[in-house]
Amino acid sequence: MAGVHKWYGEFHVLRDVNLSVTQGERIVICGPSGSGKSTLIRCLNRLEEHQKGRIVVEGTELTNDVKNIEIIRREVGMVFQQFNLFPHLTVLENCTLAPIWVKKMPKAEAEKIAMRYLERVRIPDQALKYPGQLSGGQQQRVAIARALCMSPKIMLFDEPTSALDPEMVKEVLDTMISLAEDGMTMLCVTHEMGFAKSVADRVIFMDRGEIIEQNEPDAFFNNPQSERTRLFLSQIL
Ligand code: ADP
Ligand code: MG
Repeated sequence: MAGVHKWYGEFHVLRDVNLSVTQGERIVICGPSGSGKSTLIRCLNRLEEHQKGRIVVEGTELTNDVKNIEIIRREVGMVFQQFNLFPHLTVLENCTLAPIWVKKMPKAEAEKIAMRYLERVRIPDQALKYPGQLSGGQQQRVAIARALCMSPKIMLFDEPTSALDPEMVKEVLDTMISLAEDGMTMLCVTHEMGFAKSVADRVIFMDRGEIIEQNEPDAFFNNPQSERTRLFLSQIL
């Protein structure tokens, strides 16, 4: 994305954001609450619309062209803080819905693929349950499996562990680490700095709608350049 600006009404939420991500890169985005982190990643699959600048995903530019938006949404998987599973569908149905309706995949094939990803996140035995019967950590792993069922090229995570009880954070982070090890391109908004240190190729600090600084984790944590970054890190570490 280049020179991206976004306003909510009068409020200038993204200010000249420039960010390019190469294939297989793992990026962690952090920053104070309200700094525009969610807005930034939501712009990447058009859950929010930017007003200025260019966003290009896998060679397709995000414009008002619905066809482009559809192409990009197929390439980009998203996992939210609040899981956002369909409560009236089973785990398996949550995972097969988009492949069947968006990709027109035959049901049997979609189920086979879904089971493979449920095994991957280590909950194949929960396939026929409803989200409400699962723990938060299990629901979040379903959300990850559901996104993977569309074979995305990029995965976006928006504070995937923030709504979880502490004992469930690790199982979700482990799933994300294993995805990273497989070479998935990932943009993760998270304050899990252990995850950032061990997995990220680059850590980005945002404040008031701007990217203030970015660096590889070692330099970012040990030698932050900006006073605002230092202040933020001193509050969360
Ligand atoms: P973060 O994820 O870093 O906490 P957000 O991207 O959610 O920040 O929000 C950035 C700012 O934009 C906040 O001040 C928030 O109140 C505001 N905001 C977010 N969504 C909307 C919206 N739909 N309409 C108006 N303001 C919004
Ligand atoms: Mg947010």
